Order: sequence, then C-alpha cells, then structure tokens
Amino acid sequence: KQQELGALATATTVTADGSRYQIAANVTLPAELKQLAQAGAEGIGLYRSEYLFLDPARPVTEEDQVAAYKAALLAMPKHRVVIRVQDLGADKQPGANLVTDRGIRRLLAEPVILRTQLRALLRASVYGQLAIMFPFVATIDEFQRALEILDQEKRKLVAAGHPVADQLEVGMMIETPAAVLMADQFAKYADFFSIGSNDLVQYLFATERTTSPLNHHYSVLNPAVLRAIRQVIQAAHAEGKWISLCGEMATVKLAQPLLLAMGLDEFSVPLAAILPLRQLIRSLSVRQLQPLVKKALALENDDEVAELVEAWLAKQA
Ligand code: PEP
Ligand code: MG
Repeated sequence: KQQELGALATATTVTADGSRYQIAANVTLPAELKQLAQAGAEGIGLYRSEYLFLDPARPVTEEDQVAAYKAALLAMPKHRVVIRVQDLGADKQPGANLVTDRGIRRLLAEPVILRTQLRALLRASVYGQLAIMFPFVATIDEFQRALEILDQEKRKLVAAGHPVADQLEVGMMIETPAAVLMADQFAKYADFFSIGSNDLVQYLFATERTTSPLNHHYSVLNPAVLRAIRQVIQAAHAEGKWISLCGEMATVKLAQPLLLAMGLDEFSVPLAAILPLRQLIRSLSVRQLQPLVKKALALENDDEVAELVEAWLAKQA
C-alpha cells in the first residue's frame, strides 16, 4: 500500500469521472520545503510565515524575509506558492497580549511590519508563482486598505528599479463569519479565497480553538460549517475566482468527499495527508456525490452527517 501511495506523488489529482483538483501543501516550518516534491504537492497552499517571527529577541530584516520567500518559491518552481502575511495574534505569538486583534487588522495597526513584509514578498515574487494571502479579513474596508498598501509598495519598488512579477495573485483567508456572509462582495476584490476552517469553526460555534474539550474533527461536519463553505465556494465561483481550504478540515476523511462535491478547487494539507487524499479523490465520482451533499446540508447535526458519509463510503468500497 505504501508503494501504491508513493506512485501517486506524480499522478494528477483527478476524480474517477474526470474532474480536476489541486492538492497543495501547508508549510509551517522551512524544513518541509525539501520534502514537497516527494510528498506529491501541487504547490504550497499555505505558507505560514509566522515561524520567521517567533523569536522576539531576533529581529527579522527585509533581506532575511526575501531569502526565506525565495527559498519557498524555488522549492515549487512549476506551481503556485501562497504565502500568508504574518498572522500576529494570541495563538501564534508566545507572550503576546491575549486581548489583541489579529491578522490583517493587527497588521494595519503595525504598518512598518506590514510594509516590510510586503516589500520582501514583492521582491521575491520574480522567483516563481507567488500569491499573497491576508489572514483574518473581516471587512471589505480592511481588505481594500491592505490592497492599497501592497500597491503603494509595489510602485515604490518599481520606481526604485526593483523587478516585481507582473502576475501576482492576492487573496484572503475566509476564517471569520463576517467574511463568509460578505463573500460575494469580497470575491470582487480578491483573486482567490482560502478557507481557514480551524478558526472559522471556532468563531462559528463560539468555542475555543486550543482548549476546547469539543472534538474539532467532529464539529467540522456540522451542517452549519458545510453551509458556510458551500456559500463561500458559490460566491468565489460566481466571480470566476478559485478557492482552497487550508484548515485541518481538509484532512478529515468524512469531510473530504463533501468538500470535493461542493466544488472546492484546492485542498491544502500537511505533507503526509497529500497522497492519501489524492488516492481518495481518484476513487470518487463527483457526479455520484451530488445527492450526498444535498442530503448532508439538510441534516441537523454532525453525527448525522458522519453516519451518512460513512455509510456512503462503505457502499463504494
Ligand atoms: C485556519 O485557521 O484554518 C488556518 C489554516 O490558519 P491557522 O491554522 O494558521 O490559523
Ligand atoms: Mg487561521
């Protein structure tokens, strides 16, 4: 079975009935860059740049950042590399003030940090297919301000003679309920969405991501989560934008067939989850899954959804 999986590292991610998907990697530590090809990654779907900034005693220069982003781009020369600007905030920053805002809102309040990182990303953009992603977007206004700052830095770099990639996608994470509800409007401004199910589930259920006794893998199957995701996928596609999901939900076996059938374009998962997911996708038919999704969305709780998908998968086997 190991060997069978290994052979899938270079196979395409296509369903039994011919629909094409992408499986990208979540990169949380730089050591993972060397393993991307062997793991079968079709790009990086979430590069968590936070790791660069974890040690407050060690200042990180613009040059340090250019080198780090260049290394990520060169690790996947034929694929898209989505680098998320740092998600400063409680669970990502040891010793941080727990009442602070996080993600894009926090960065807008720290313009030097934001501008430095955007400059480094723009300078690295010539080394591959870079996409820049903003975390924790909640309002159209804050996303537009971030886009404006990015544009200003780009103009300044170009005026100073630095080459910058022409094709640069800029997207946002969908991990606040506000972003779900406004996804149709965000889709006009963002080149792509990436659903952060870890935080989205926490905020949908008013639970606590790190300390909750609730089983996270269990809650992602709640129809409320499925409905939110379906809504966001439809909003993205209505504007011709692509959409990924980069939270843990993308690795949950009983969620994967539903995400596939709802039309998610890309799954971004930890390295070890890539090949098993590709194997599953290649065995499924999206057309046959449609009635299952319809049923799941009409159920009342996650237990019922789990039973439904389990029974369906058992019938396929
Ligand atoms: C998420 O919130 O689902 C996500 C992928 O981002 P992070 O886990 O880094 O907060
Ligand atoms: Mg998150």
